[in-house]
Amino acid sequence: MKAVQYRAVGAAPEVVQVPVPVPGPGQLLLKVTAAGVCHSDIAVMSWPAEALTFPLPLILGHEGVGTVAAVGDGVVAFEVGDAVAVYGPWGCGSCAKCAEGKENYCLRAKELGINPPGLGSPGAMAEYMIVDDARHLVPLGDLDPVQAVPLTDAGLTPYHAIKRSLPKLVPGSTAVVIGTGGLGHVAIQILRALSPARVIALDVSEEKLALAREVGAHEAILSNAESVDAVRKLTGGKGAEAVFDFVGAGPTAATAGGCVAIEGDVTIVGLGGGSLPVGFGTTAYEASVTSPYWGSRGELLEVLDLARAGVISVHTETYKIDEAPTAYERLHSGAVRGRAVILPQE
Ligand code: NAD
Ligand code: ZN
Ligand code: ZN
Repeated sequence: MKAVQYRAVGAAPEVVQVPVPVPGPGQLLLKVTAAGVCHSDIAVMSWPAEALTFPLPLILGHEGVGTVAAVGDGVVAFEVGDAVAVYGPWGCGSCAKCAEGKENYCLRAKELGINPPGLGSPGAMAEYMIVDDARHLVPLGDLDPVQAVPLTDAGLTPYHAIKRSLPKLVPGSTAVVIGTGGLGHVAIQILRALSPARVIALDVSEEKLALAREVGAHEAILSNAESVDAVRKLTGGKGAEAVFDFVGAGPTAATAGGCVAIEGDVTIVGLGGGSLPVGFGTTAYEASVTSPYWGSRGELLEVLDLARAGVISVHTETYKIDEAPTAYERLHSGAVRGRAVILPQE
C-alpha cells in the first residue's frame, strides 16, 4: 500500500510502498478514507534527532477517519464496514486520567512507550492503518469523511480549550483567536456556536482574515505590534475574557498577555516555542495562563455532535496521497485555507 513517511531527521515526507498491516488481538484495521494535515507535523519534522521520542521511518497523520476493514481477535465493539473516526491521543486506558476519558493526559503513556498514530505509531496517511484498541474509535455515522477528519484534532483541540473558558464568555464578553488556520477557523465557529462572546480574530495574512470573517469572526485584524492596542480599543479598554493563541510564538504569546482582561484566560495552543511570563504587574489581575494538549474522548463525541447539528463547517483542500508532500509544503508556506485533507483511496 502507499503511505506517507517521515524517513530521516530534517528530510521532507515521502510517499512509499509498505505492506498492508495485519491487526493483532484487540486491534482493528481501518481502510483510511481521509487524513488531515496538521501544523504539528511540521513542528515534529523540525526537531533535532535528540528531541524525537520514537524511531523513524514514521507514517504521518494524526487525524484519521475510515471504515473498519478487519478486526483482531476479541474485538466486539465494531464490525467490518463501520465508518469510524480515530481518537488520536492514545493512552494506557487504565490510569486515573484515562479512566476519565482524558487519554491526552495519560499518566503512563510515556513510560509504556504508547504514542499517538502519526506521532510515533504508524499514522493515517496510508491506505490502511492499525488502531490499537476499539476504545480509540468513535462512530462517524453519516458525517462526511473530509469534513469530519479535521474535527479529530483541529476541532477537538480548540473545543477542549474553549469549553474550559465558557463560564467567562458571558454576554458582553470578548474572545480573541490568534492564528485563523486549521485550528483557528474551527475555533471561531465553536465560539460562535457555544457562546454569545464577540469574537476578534488576528492573523498575519489578509486571506486568513477574510476566512475568519467568513466563518463568523465579528472583527478580523492584522497580528502585529499594534494588535494589543487594537483589541483594547475594540473592548473599551477592558480586554478579552478569553484569548486563544493558535500560534504560540514569542510575539503572539506577548499579544495574548497584553489583550487579556482582568480575571481572563490565556490559552496557548500553538507549538511556536513562545511563553508568557506571569507576575504581579506583568499580567492583568488574576488572569490565568494555560497550555492544553488535544482533548478527551468524550469531547470528541461532543465535537462530532456539534458538526451533526450543522454549526461547524470546516474549510478543506483535498489532495491525493501522492500529493501529500505538496500539501505539507503549502501548509509550511501559509498557503492552505482551512485544513488540507489527504484522500488515500483516490
Ligand atoms: P495552520 O498553519 O493551519 O494555522 C496557523 C495560522 O497562524 C495561519 O493562518 C498563519 O497565517 C497564522 N499565523 C502565523 N504567524 C502568526 C502571527 N504571528 N500572528 C497571527 N497569526 C499567525 O496551523 P494549525 O494546524 O491550525 O496549527 C496551529 C498551531 O497549533 C500549531 O502550532 C500546531 O502545532 C498547534 N497544535 C497544538 C495542539 C495542542 O494540542 N496543543 C494540537 C494541534 C495543533
Ligand atoms: Zn495536530
Ligand atoms: Zn493512562
